Amino acid sequence: MATLKLPVEVQKELKKVSKVAGYLWQREWAERNAGNISMNLTSFFTKEEVQAAAGEQIPFDFPKGAAGFVIYITGTGCYLRDLVDSLDKVSCILYINEEATAYSIIWGGNRENFGPTCELISHTSIHLFNSINHPENLAVVHTHPLELICMSHHELFDNEEELNRQIWMMCPEVKVFVPKGIHCTPYALSSTADLAKVTIEAFKTRNVSLWEKHGATATAPDVEKAWDFLDVANKGAKLLMMCWAAGFKPAGLSNEQLVELEQFT
Ligand SMILES: [Zn+2]
Repeated sequence: MATLKLPVEVQKELKKVSKVAGYLWQREWAERNAGNISMNLTSFFTKEEVQAAAGEQIPFDFPKGAAGFVIYITGTGCYLRDLVDSLDKVSCILYINEEATAYSIIWGGNRENFGPTCELISHTSIHLFNSINHPENLAVVHTHPLELICMSHHELFDNEEELNRQIWMMCPEVKVFVPKGIHCTPYALSSTADLAKVTIEAFKTRNVSLWEKHGATATAPDVEKAWDFLDVANKGAKLLMMCWAAGFKPAGLSNEQLVELEQFT
C-alpha cells in the first residue's frame, strides 16, 4: 500500500477545514461530536494514485453514481474542534470502489477504531447530486447553528416563503449572500437514506437545508463558502429572534427593498 501524497491544492482545502472547524466550535455550533464536513476531492487525484493507496475495503451501500469518488470526510464520534490541530486523526480521505459497494481509507483516520461519519450516506448523495447539477460545489458542511435550530421549532418553519422573507428582511447582506434562501427540510432520522433524500430536495432550490429540530447543512465550492451561507443565514435568524426577545416586531426591509437587492445576487 503506497502512501497518498496530498497535492498543494488539497492541503490548502484542508487548512480551510481546520479554520472553519475552529469557527464552528467558537460559535457553539459543534458541541461534542456534532457536525460533519466533507469534500469531493476526486478531481485532485489520478485513479492510479488512489488505487495504489487503497487498503482494506469496508463494505458500504453507496449510490451507484458515486463509484470511484474520492471524498474527504470527518470521522464518526470525532469532535470537530480537533480538526484545528489533529485533522489527520479525526478525518480521512476515502476512495469508493468502482462498484460502489465499499470504501478504503487512503489518507488520515490515524486513530484507533476510526470510521467515517455515520452521515456518510447523506454526504455522498449530496456530492453525487452536485457532480451532476452543480459540479462547482465540492464542499458540504453540516453543523448545529443555534438560532436556525430555534427557527426550525417555530411555526414559521411550516411556511418556507414567509420564514425566508422574515430572515431576509433583517439586513441587506442576508438577502445578497443567501440569495436562494433556506429550505425548511422536514425531520428525518440522522444517518438515514431518508435524510439524504430530503436534503437533496433542499439543494434543488435553496442555499441552506435547515434540518427540522436538528441543524443546518450547506454546500458550496469550498468549506469557507459553505460556512458563509450558514453564518449569514444564522445572522438573519439571530437578529429576528433578538427583536422578538426585546419584545418588538421588527419593521424589516420592505418587499420592494428586497427585490431591489436582487441585482446584487
Ligand atoms: Zn447534526
